[in-house]
Amino acid sequence: MGSIRLGRVFGIDLKVHATFVLALAFGAWQWKAFGASGAAFGAGLVVLLFACVVLHELGHSLVAKAFGIPVREIMLLPIGGMAQMTRKPKTPTQELLIAIAGPAVNVGIALGLMGVGYGWLGREGMVEAVSGLTNAPPSMETLWVMLTASNVMLAVFNMIPALPMDGGRVLRAVLSMGIGHTKATSIAAMVARVLAVGMMVFAVFSGQLMLGVIALFVFFGANAEAREERLSGALDDVPVAYALNPHAVTLSPGTTMADAIALLVRNPQPAFAVLHGERLVGVVTRRGLVEAAQANGPFAYLASAMQREVPSVGPDASLTEARLQMNASESPYVAVLDEDRYLGLITEHELAQQAAVSNVFARFSPRRGGDKFARE
Ligand code: ZN
Repeated sequence: MGSIRLGRVFGIDLKVHATFVLALAFGAWQWKAFGASGAAFGAGLVVLLFACVVLHELGHSLVAKAFGIPVREIMLLPIGGMAQMTRKPKTPTQELLIAIAGPAVNVGIALGLMGVGYGWLGREGMVEAVSGLTNAPPSMETLWVMLTASNVMLAVFNMIPALPMDGGRVLRAVLSMGIGHTKATSIAAMVARVLAVGMMVFAVFSGQLMLGVIALFVFFGANAEAREERLSGALDDVPVAYALNPHAVTLSPGTTMADAIALLVRNPQPAFAVLHGERLVGVVTRRGLVEAAQANGPFAYLASAMQREVPSVGPDASLTEARLQMNASESPYVAVLDEDRYLGLITEHELAQQAAVSNVFARFSPRRGGDKFARE
C-alpha cells in the first residue's frame, strides 16, 4: 500500500501511510457513544496524537542531523512513526543521544501541558479532570487529559528496552560501550525477543490487539537488527575490489534489445553496466531491460532503456560503504570507478555472496576469530 507526502520539515519528507486511515477510524469509533461530534473529537484526537509522534521523530532526526547523519523521511504508520536514517550512528554515544531525543520530546510536551493545565484548571481542577475521565464527554478538559497522558505513555512505552524501540537502542548503546557493537546487538536483540513474547502473551490474555501488533513489530524488528549487524559485520573492511565479478557481461549503448535480452537469459547478473569504451554511460537492471524491451520492441537501442544517473564509489571503498551508498541513493547497484575508469558493479548479489562466505574459514584462523578472509 502506498503513502501520502504531507510536506517537508527541516529538509525531511513527512509521509503518512495509507493504513493511517485505520487509526483515524479507530479513534472515531472509540468516541461513537457521543454521536457525530464524538467521532469528530476521536479523529481529531488521533491527529493531535500523531502530531506529537511527528515531534518525537523530529527529536530523533534533528539530533541525527547534528551528527551528520542524513534523514530521508519520517513515515507515519498506525502503530507510530519511523524516521529513516541513511547512515548508522558512528559511536555508542551518538546512538544513545539520538534514541533518547524522541522520548525526551514527549516528556517536554507532557511537562508543558501540565504547566498549561496548572495555570488553566489549578491543582484541584487537574485532579478532577483526570479522575472524571472515564465516560467523560468530548471537551477541552478531556482533550488536555488525553494528550498529557498520551505523551507520558509515549515516553514510557518507547523506553521499554526492546530493540528496535528507543529503549532497546539505549540498551544497545550502553552495552556497546563495554562489549562492542556486535555482542551488544545480539544481547539487546535477545532481550527484545523475550520481551516481545511476554507482550504477546499479555496481549492475548488481555485482548489488546494493538499491543499484539507491537509485539510482532518488536519481535521481527529485533531479528532484522540482528541480521543487519551480522551483514554489516561481514562486509566491513572488505574492499569492493574483492567482490567485483571479473566475468560480468557489459553492454554498449548501441546494443539492440533483442541482443540484450539474449545476453540476459544466459547471464544471471541483477544489473548490466553500459559502457562506451572504458567509460560508464549507464546501467540497466534485468527488470528495466525486460520492461523496455516489451515497450520498445527488439530493434530499439539500449541507450533508450538505461539509467544514466549511477551512484558510485571509489576503488578503495569497503562493501559497507558501497551498501550505504546504495541505501542513500535508493539504488539496487553502485558502480566502482577509478577516476573515470569503470571497474565493476556492486549489487545485492555481490553483498549477499560476500556475507554468505565471510565466515566459511573462521575456524581455520583462530587468531582472527570470526573475521573475514586474510587478504592482501
Ligand atoms: Zn522513538
